[in-house]
Amino acid sequence: MTAVLELVDVRKVYPGPPAVESLRGVTFTVRTGELVAVLGPSGSGKTTLLNLAAGLDRPTDGSVRIAGRPVEKLRDRQLSGVRAHQLGVVFQQFVLLDRLSATENVATGLIYRGVPGAQRRTAARTALERVGLAHRAEFPAAHLSGGERQRVAIARALVGRPAVVLADEPTGNLDSVTGQGVIELLRELNADGVTIVVITHDERVAAAMNRRVELRDGLVVLDTGSAS
Ligand code: ADP
Ligand code: MG
Repeated sequence: MTAVLELVDVRKVYPGPPAVESLRGVTFTVRTGELVAVLGPSGSGKTTLLNLAAGLDRPTDGSVRIAGRPVEKLRDRQLSGVRAHQLGVVFQQFVLLDRLSATENVATGLIYRGVPGAQRRTAARTALERVGLAHRAEFPAAHLSGGERQRVAIARALVGRPAVVLADEPTGNLDSVTGQGVIELLRELNADGVTIVVITHDERVAAAMNRRVELRDGLVVLDTGSAS
């Protein structure tokens, strides 16, 4: 299967002082169709890795390839294009615009792709159906529950049919029952063909994924591989 995200001997040093080597040579590849957990305790380098995988930052050394494009070699504008076309990102805090409807929030996921407004709305409706929220499509985000808000955020990440969806602690702000629902949704979407990488410190979340890559002190200490 096609590699959608490749990290090759990735190092990231924050200059400081004192300088901190947050990733110290991380290598792994995510292929189309995978459902991967990147698991690690606080301080292990998860957020650093997410920022690199999402094209929001560049490695100090090594290579990060998103859908085959090496982030470290792209100009800012090219990188923005890769982000808009190949990536969907789900944040722990959802990051919705409260006064906009669910549909409008999801449609914002297509603005940077130059999709016309009417088409954005249609695609947003379809994405909301996929996450089981068709009945909330016209609700302002402010009136949605935490679990519903996270589903809207997932729909926004999906709407452009990205090569890979990255989710940063997607259940971190939810109670355990609601969080379980979000995990099940991620599993269903993966079964439907969406490639997903979940970044988490939560063992239960990782256990629900098909593969785990464990980080400790900026290094991969376990990778169960893509065969499972
Ligand atoms: P995690 O998300 O797993 O908690 P991080 O990637 O946030 O880990 O941090 C990994 C290490 O890098 C920590 O030691 C942290 O203090 C350090 N770090 C993270 N971001 C910065 C930064 N902007 N400047 C300096 N050090 C940082
Ligand atoms: Mg973090």
